[in-house]
Amino acid sequence: MGETTAIEWTDHTFNPWIGCTKISPACDNCYAENLMDTRYGRARWGAGEDRARTAPSNWSQPRKWDRQAVKAGTRPFVFCASLADVFDNEVDERWRADLFALIRETPNLVWLLLTKRIGNVLRMTDVEARGSDFHLPDNVAIGATMANQAEYDRDRMKLHQVREKRRPLFTFGSFEPLLGPIILDSYAPDWIIVGGESGQSARPMDLDWARLMRQSANSYGRVFNFKQAGGRGGDKGGHELDGEKYFDRPLATRPTDTGRGS
Ligand code: SF4
Repeated sequence: MGETTAIEWTDHTFNPWIGCTKISPACDNCYAENLMDTRYGRARWGAGEDRARTAPSNWSQPRKWDRQAVKAGTRPFVFCASLADVFDNEVDERWRADLFALIRETPNLVWLLLTKRIGNVLRMTDVEARGSDFHLPDNVAIGATMANQAEYDRDRMKLHQVREKRRPLFTFGSFEPLLGPIILDSYAPDWIIVGGESGQSARPMDLDWARLMRQSANSYGRVFNFKQAGGRGGDKGGHELDGEKYFDRPLATRPTDTGRGS
């Protein structure tokens, strides 16, 4: 829900709707679905299930954050859809258009749209096919969750194509929960966020996998952020790896390097 977040890699979290379908090994212990059992109890998971749009009072929160940002002279990050996926096929596409309109109305916020459905983004933001309401707003960064090498190999070029064709502020990869070692290449996103899974059923992350990501991110000149080691009752958001804190963010500017990966 719209709230000031405890997640340190963003400043706010906003959920335009709630509900999703599991589509990746990274979804196995979906935090959002578990919350429905214990906290919200009003959205069901799976294909064909209704998503629950959040209240108008929640939708007004980003406008307040935008006004605060103007006063403070800051450009806060908003993580969008921690309890859903913006590019979910099951969602009424008018809801997505409404979300894009809200994003356009709040130009002082940097909206982080993280998806496990990066292959849907070009189609769902195709203005020629869908109209100008579906134009990806200018103050958006696009991210893909990639939990293992197979997902990275499958999705990094899709993310790169979104970067080239839709020109988001930057791209990012959420490598959380990191479920195995991943070798990055020159198509890696601008911001590399690594984290282990936490909670009772957490699958352990080998710190050497995180070290490998740090080394590759450095060698390709990407911004590296280490969220947490994870584990049962272990580190939740400490940003610390080998005694160093890694909480850097990219500058929220438009990409100029169109030759990435060539
Ligand atoms: S994409 Fe995210 S919200 Fe949807 S099922 Fe997977 S982990 Fe849960």
